[in-house]
Amino acid sequence: MSAYRRILLAIDLTEESTQVAACATALANAFGAELHVIHVIEPLSLAYGGDIPMDLSSVQEQIHEQAKSHLAEFANGLGVPAERQYLIFGRPESEIHRVAESGAMDLVIVGSHGRHGLALLLGSTANGVLHGASCDVLAVRVGASGNQAQG
Ligand code: AMP
Repeated sequence: MSAYRRILLAIDLTEESTQVAACATALANAFGAELHVIHVIEPLSLAYGGDIPMDLSSVQEQIHEQAKSHLAEFANGLGVPAERQYLIFGRPESEIHRVAESGAMDLVIVGSHGRHGLALLLGSTANGVLHGASCDVLAVRVGASGNQAQG
């Protein structure tokens, strides 16, 4: 395996992001790689279709402002500068793929709950990122079952 140079850490800004980030920073340090951080905001219209008969733009704006400050706080805490922080609207899987490609990333790191059964059938973001990725993907196991990394 050649050394990783540009690592993209995808975070959903939940508490579990800290576990995934710990692995990402350790790897970035070990490889002397640049760490980039992405958070994707799923538009409410995408999440709920046209089912809600009200104007969601002010809610969406609030979500955007909150996510912006959370992402900046989180990424700054990791020592990742603003130009390597990406806050994007869209579907997480597609936008993570797009930024990984356009930014010539050679590793994407996501968290994985290692779900089984129905949740697995329905798919998770980690699965979605893995399928169709143009570079390596590392799924870091998060949640109650511990913090072991697996490829
Ligand atoms: P999930 O399958 O939604 O539980 O998410 C698993 C992992 O996918 C998270 O730990 C993140 O690494 C990544 N992820 C999920 N949602 C997002 C998002 N909106 N933006 C960036 N990464 C995400």
